[in-house]
Amino acid sequence: MADVPHVWVVEDNDQNFDLVDFLLGDAGIEVSRAADKAGFERLLARGARADLVLLDINVPGTSGLELLAALKGDPRHAAVPAVALTAHAMLGDRERFLAAGCVGYIAKPIETGTFIDQVRGFLGRGGEESR
Ligand code: MN
Repeated sequence: MADVPHVWVVEDNDQNFDLVDFLLGDAGIEVSRAADKAGFERLLARGARADLVLLDINVPGTSGLELLAALKGDPRHAAVPAVALTAHAMLGDRERFLAAGCVGYIAKPIETGTFIDQVRGFLGRGGEESR
């Protein structure tokens, strides 16, 4: 990829974030973190670049669905694909997030062997829409 992709990671759990950040960084992907609603709103307000948003469902003080709505309601970021990070057992959550506009989901706990391939797949879709 000629361009370095930039991924926002919305994740309040430090251990989960550190793993995702390590895997993305190792793959040459730039990361911005939001650990809570305020952090996510700062990224939106800054107009920070995003090629993909990885969205935790359970975020203190808010919910992944609320943050997804904020993303889709911001003209500068409405077209950025969002992918839910969901626990294996939460099948109902997956359906709700897909219905709300996520392009897919990645299961937690993160599988280190397949995570980057999954991310690249979603980045490819976003690229087709925006170029
Ligand atoms: Mn969480």
